[in-house]
Amino acid sequence: MRIADKTVTRAILERHGFTFKKSFGQNFLTDTNILQKIVDTAEIDKGVNVIEIGPGIGALTEFLAENAAEVMAFEIDDRLIPILADTLRDFDNVQVVNQDILKADLQTQIKAFKNPDLPIKVVANLPYYITTPILMHLIESKIPFQEFVVMMQKEVADRISAEPNTKAYGSLSIAVQYYMTAKVAFIVPRTVFVPAPNVDSAILKMTRRETPLVDVKNEDFLFDVSKASFVHRRKTLWNNLTNRFGKSDEVKAKLEKALEIAELAPNVRGEALSIEDFARLSDALESVALY
Ligand code: SAM
Repeated sequence: MRIADKTVTRAILERHGFTFKKSFGQNFLTDTNILQKIVDTAEIDKGVNVIEIGPGIGALTEFLAENAAEVMAFEIDDRLIPILADTLRDFDNVQVVNQDILKADLQTQIKAFKNPDLPIKVVANLPYYITTPILMHLIESKIPFQEFVVMMQKEVADRISAEPNTKAYGSLSIAVQYYMTAKVAFIVPRTVFVPAPNVDSAILKMTRRETPLVDVKNEDFLFDVSKASFVHRRKTLWNNLTNRFGKSDEVKAKLEKALEIAELAPNVRGEALSIEDFARLSDALESVALY
């Protein structure tokens, strides 16, 4: 029997008198086939360390511990710590860290792996209310995570993995795809969770690129420009950029020059621009001293 078997999950919750906290995005997985599929998708073996975010009562942690060298699991909810000590008592390769992942100093934490030189993958069923901040926190930690295999709301997975000229494409696609390739591995119906969320989920597999997708002088400015270009999706690039940088004659003249350098038409929409286009635009804006 597994922690994720419905009867086992129910028994654990009852034994510990646990009640779900919506504000922590607590939807626990109760489908062992899906858990196995997550581990297979992440290609976890004894040569890999895993960071898990939000172990809950340990449904996914159990599968990870069986397959990985070591698992470090960050859980914000104090009430789950004694439960995890109980459900994962048979494993000596799991460390549960009672911390908000967004506040965790990951560079320091990962030194606590017994073998810190092994590649690290992040595998998690994420709390949906902070999916994007978590991903950005992990990416910006500059830790060379090899891969993220994470469950999230399907709509967010679609946005992250979207290509230009689609409705889902936007600044989030650019912020992630700049560093990682991103692909939806499979869809997970809402019925396999307790309690069931009101949206379907997807497993997104993101693999770090050896070098970022494009060469750009200032990464932060690239993300700033791409964000500004999607503020009003139906409006042209020109409109969004004048909203961001200003509408004076001087700014407009500089903008015209920058678009010419970047070889972009003012009436194009942000959604038509590839990440390469945004990188050219960002460099061109800097070259005419628009920040
Ligand atoms: N992994 C478990 C499973 O699949 O059944 C639980 C997943 S549940 C969707 C999300 C988990 O993340 C919950 O256990 C919740 O308490 C935890 N969590 C929420 N916010 C967190 C944060 N900021 N840092 C760490 N854990 C968090």
